[in-house]
Amino acid sequence: MKSTFSDNYATKCTTDLAMRVYTSQLLGKDMGLVLHGGGNTSVKIDDKLYVKGSGWNLDTIEEAGFPGVDLETLISMAKLEQLSDTDMVSQQREALEDKNSPNPSIEAILHAIIPFKYVDHTHADAVVTISNTPQGEKRLKELYGPNMLFIDYVMPGFILAKEIYEQTKGIDWQSLDGIILLNHGVFSFDDNAKQAYEKMIKIVDKAEVYLKENAVPKVLNFSKSFCKLDVSFTNELKGEVEKLRGCDIVMKIGSSIEAVYFSQFDNLDDIFKNGPLTPEHVIRTKPFPAIIDNNIKEGLKAFTSRYKKYFKAHAKDEIMLDLAPRYAIIKGVGFVAFGKDKKEAGIIFDIISHTISAMSLAQNLGGWKSLKPSDIFDMEYWELEQAKLRKQAQKDSTC
Ligand SMILES: [Zn+2]
Repeated sequence: MKSTFSDNYATKCTTDLAMRVYTSQLLGKDMGLVLHGGGNTSVKIDDKLYVKGSGWNLDTIEEAGFPGVDLETLISMAKLEQLSDTDMVSQQREALEDKNSPNPSIEAILHAIIPFKYVDHTHADAVVTISNTPQGEKRLKELYGPNMLFIDYVMPGFILAKEIYEQTKGIDWQSLDGIILLNHGVFSFDDNAKQAYEKMIKIVDKAEVYLKENAVPKVLNFSKSFCKLDVSFTNELKGEVEKLRGCDIVMKIGSSIEAVYFSQFDNLDDIFKNGPLTPEHVIRTKPFPAIIDNNIKEGLKAFTSRYKKYFKAHAKDEIMLDLAPRYAIIKGVGFVAFGKDKKEAGIIFDIISHTISAMSLAQNLGGWKSLKPSDIFDMEYWELEQAKLRKQAQKDSTC
């Protein structure tokens, strides 16, 4: 991975916030760093933290996408013993400079406690791929040495901010090259926007080189011959998934050589037991796909019963989501993303393209091992997502 920072362009960014917008867009435009709303960035100006607002994507973010939040309020929130994410969101709104701004990122507290002007956070494919293997932490520690801070996986939001606050008490921040959140992503930081961005690129480049040298398969072995999806197969698949989802769907088919290769793995069930590429993906993709060989109905039935089992094993008082898969692996063919519209199908398609590429590489590093099922469940059934559902259910019952 190479820096795409242009000193020439940067001279046009005459304010700290303009500079923040510029390097955020650079990060956002690289799909190996963040995908569709993933990652977040911030800049501290006087007594405010300007942090990515919810609903904005880094590749197209503008100044309006950075709500200003009172920095001291955020830092004091990190010192609380407990705080639900719902309360965190409302307290962050209270501390907004402009009440019409979007909600600050759920990582705002974490950005606030990192004592540098510019803070960049991505879910870099290469770093999380290494992390999501059985020896991932060991490999990363050898790769980055003692100046990288490693944080075990905890739920993003207040719990993560609190964890980093506790672990960095008395730390020499100047000695740190960055922070790696295991099974999640990377933080880089600096008082200079270009430096913060290029530190991120350097960290990710190191992981990409490592994967190239240690994990890229020399040849792709295909166990079966290529087959094609015919119209009757895709029509049946679409119809059956629509029944489960309760609405029309749009499908996007992934049939690259890599997707075909991946679809033929014998251990797909095991791989998908072990979590997504990065936690938030599960909200869009569900924890695992339907795996379909020749019989569509059977493949979907196996998915729904597996999903019910997973829900039952972890649910307390949550509302179960619909039973439609968000994508399917079609053995020998590739994968199919299912969206309620073209946009959603495209987002899921991109996430799965990156996920299967990471999962394939991980096979050469001892296998895939990301989040525990209980962590996956906590993310998929996160209180803020459930609150949206309850609101929707209320609305539906009144009309
Ligand atoms: Zn993140």
